[in-house]
Amino acid sequence: MATRRRWLFADQLGPHFLDDEPERQVLLVVSKGVFRRKVYHRQKAHLVLSALRHRAAELGDRAELIVTERYRDAVTGPVEVCHPTSRAARELIRSLPDATMLPPRGFITAPGDFVRWADGRPRLLLEDFYRDARRRHGILMDGSEPAGGRWNFDGDNREPPPRGVRTLGVPPPPALAEDDVDAEVRAELDRWERDDGIRFIGRDGPRRFAVTAGEAQARLAHFLEHRLPVFGPHEDAMLREDPLMAHSLLSASLNLGLLDPLDVVERAEGEYRRGAAPIAGVEGFVRQILGWRDYVWHCYWYFGPRFEHRDALHARRRLPAWFAGLDPEGVGSACLRDVLTRVRDTGWVHHIQRLMVLGNLALQRDWHPADVADWFARAFVDGYPWVMTPNVIGMSQYADGGRMTTKPYAAGGAYINRMSDYCGGCPFDPKHRAGADACPFTAGYWAFLHHHRDAFAGNHRMRQPLALLDRLADAAEIAAAESRRRDF
Ligand SMILES: Cc1cc2nc3c(=O)[nH]c(=O)nc-3n(C[C@H](O)[C@H](O)[C@H](O)COP(=O)(O)OP(=O)(O)OC[C@H]3O[C@@H](n4cnc5c(N)ncnc54)[C@H](O)[C@@H]3O)c2cc1C
Ligand code: SF4
Repeated sequence: MATRRRWLFADQLGPHFLDDEPERQVLLVVSKGVFRRKVYHRQKAHLVLSALRHRAAELGDRAELIVTERYRDAVTGPVEVCHPTSRAARELIRSLPDATMLPPRGFITAPGDFVRWADGRPRLLLEDFYRDARRRHGILMDGSEPAGGRWNFDGDNREPPPRGVRTLGVPPPPALAEDDVDAEVRAELDRWERDDGIRFIGRDGPRRFAVTAGEAQARLAHFLEHRLPVFGPHEDAMLREDPLMAHSLLSASLNLGLLDPLDVVERAEGEYRRGAAPIAGVEGFVRQILGWRDYVWHCYWYFGPRFEHRDALHARRRLPAWFAGLDPEGVGSACLRDVLTRVRDTGWVHHIQRLMVLGNLALQRDWHPADVADWFARAFVDGYPWVMTPNVIGMSQYADGGRMTTKPYAAGGAYINRMSDYCGGCPFDPKHRAGADACPFTAGYWAFLHHHRDAFAGNHRMRQPLALLDRLADAAEIAAAESRRRDF
């Protein structure tokens, strides 16, 4: 009996999306319609196309790569495909006449295990899921006890940047060498822009992220040796001249399916076991992948399609054009200007810049959550609906009314000042909530609390901020001034 072709989506490109069947034929599809419907970062488009073309080249005669307008036009005849990562793709597969859907790959916890854990819980807290996953997979466990005697080293991993330094001094990952495939992709994207009416945001630039499993493995090895030992303490800190800090930069490779997440966490644990990296940092890293990454993946499916449209705080404002189009030129705030510039130039910034600068701003300014999620998914090299929806709708914008977090991630300039070196070079003052140099984050924070006081009244974790708000005589004036603010 002829075997079915395996159709690999562009985020299923590592060896673990194929089985050990050298005869199995493979189908890869580039849908131009995807890029026509939405405006993506140019470097994201490059990354995805380059990864697909590199995979086709690796597989040689076994693979057919088709460039077409719609997936449906290319996927003819019997195919099998691993469960995809978006609802739209799942619907497409279900509608094809002869497609078999295999269970999902590329995540650690199985769907059934997540559902068993989640059903009946009023709140799906990451910490509970993560401990369960550690036990189930035996990661960082000494018998039935957590390695190092604690489940959670967050307290050790939230230090501000070291005083008086401009960088952490950690070696950056070696630059990647572009090849003929990258040159072809660059020419193809130029043609799309010139002749096909396809538009991009962000700047083109040298390819910064892996497109083959080999490149991704080399990046992982470099991270384990040079960055994991210092990953922990300054995980939440920001330094203007050190955009990477000790982060792994592995999200794009994990999300393209080039790295197997279980392998990544086991190798990180291996570094701890052989004494090369401390428990706090290794636990922090494992928490990100075995915990957060899997947790948001499962939340995306578990909460159902309406989750994407949740808007518990009734935030309806549109994103301003300078933000949506990645144009930092008129931005004065040192933190925001730096972060937006880096998104424009590279399509990547680290977690705290996403959460406490970009997401915090959107939350405070009542930008529409679904638009914010869509922007993140298009502007970031690692953005996909499954990861963006829970991170933005749930985590960052509190638009789910608190199913994933116990309180909104809103903070004033004092937080950014403590955790970064941005404020020293800024025309605004993080301590000022009123006046010409009022920090947009500080004033925005009080305006946000003022507007949503009723929504947070019953939340015991918001009791203290609301009590502080009550002591401000000028809260209404600040809120009014912030609703008129145009200078960021
Ligand atoms: C508003 C917002 C938007 C985000 N958008 C994305 C996105 O589009 N794609 C994406 O992969 N991550 C996203 N994240 C999560 C996180 O910020 C990135 O995964 C991380 O910054 C990527 O850099 P890194 O690989 O150096 O991560 P590290 O700090 O080195 O962490 C290691 C790995 O953990 C995983 N991880 C950590 N946190 C999360 C998380 N919250 N959700 C999912 N995976 C996580 C990633 O795979 C990451 O590579 C978002 C977070 C926020 C708050
Ligand atoms: S003063 Fe406010 S706007 Fe300026 S860098 Fe600090 S937090 Fe950002």
